[in-house]
Amino acid sequence: MIRFLDPDGTRYGIPTWPWGMAPSGLYTRTQLREIGFRPTSPGGPAGQLMWRSQRADAGGIRTALLYPIGQTVQRTTATPRQMAALDRAHAARKTCPDCHRNVGYTIPTHLGACLDCTSPQAKNAA
Ligand SMILES: [Zn+2]
Repeated sequence: MIRFLDPDGTRYGIPTWPWGMAPSGLYTRTQLREIGFRPTSPGGPAGQLMWRSQRADAGGIRTALLYPIGQTVQRTTATPRQMAALDRAHAARKTCPDCHRNVGYTIPTHLGACLDCTSPQAKNAA
């Protein structure tokens, strides 16, 4: 019998695999973080890795919980809805309130309009 191998969880309480032998689709929290995912809070671990450690404070054996990839959600700093709102806000700041053109740069708030509309030539023409 392979040490720490307990896919049914009869010995360790939850399904257990030796380090490096986790079935495909199961990842540790650290591995999930590296690919931009994290476990959802209600989705508990599906098993654990167990390996012998030299660290004395770990009692010679260490474990890492495994999570199925299906129970994880992608970590994002902003949701697509938030990103769209940011895009709209950026576009609005680049749109001149006078000529209604997207001028490609942020309208200076102290001018209140694009540089074309606030240039001396434009003022003279108006
Ligand atoms: Zn303008």
